[in-house]
Amino acid sequence: MNITGIMIYYYFICKKKLWYFINQINMEQNSELVAIGKILDEDSYKKEKKEILIDNTINIDFIKNGAVLHEVKKTKSIEEAGIWQIKYYMYYLEKKEVKNIKAKIDYPLLRETKEIILSDSDRKVLDDVIQDIEKLINEESIPKKINSKICKKCSYYDLCYV
Ligand code: SF4
Repeated sequence: MNITGIMIYYYFICKKKLWYFINQINMEQNSELVAIGKILDEDSYKKEKKEILIDNTINIDFIKNGAVLHEVKKTKSIEEAGIWQIKYYMYYLEKKEVKNIKAKIDYPLLRETKEIILSDSDRKVLDDVIQDIEKLINEESIPKKINSKICKKCSYYDLCYV
């Protein structure tokens, strides 16, 4: 199984969510937040070339000015996960010998942009994260729920708590 950008994103949100996703238990269509995300995605940055899928593994929202990757996010509520997702895109492209990659996260609703840097320590973190996800792919038991305020907005809430 390829380690995709969305898997890295879920890893930093909740390992249980990631486990559901890996095991193709998908409830995203029920989530109002995902619907809002799709509308946002369709309406923002209409002029840019969008959704560049590479190796069925990373799906870049758009690329501007040569080699600046852009990821569009609705809010900063799970900002860390979004940052690691785009760092993974940079890491993945580096492994494919793409040089001088720059990246930004755009928050159109907040009218903000954040520049993202991939450091050596980030590369080491991502090496470890990939190993962890590979273990989780073969794991039969479901990780524990995280009892976080983000659970109320998660599409798997009913599976975890009801
Ligand atoms: S509801 Fe909470 S514990 Fe369950 S998958 Fe979502 S984020 Fe994880």
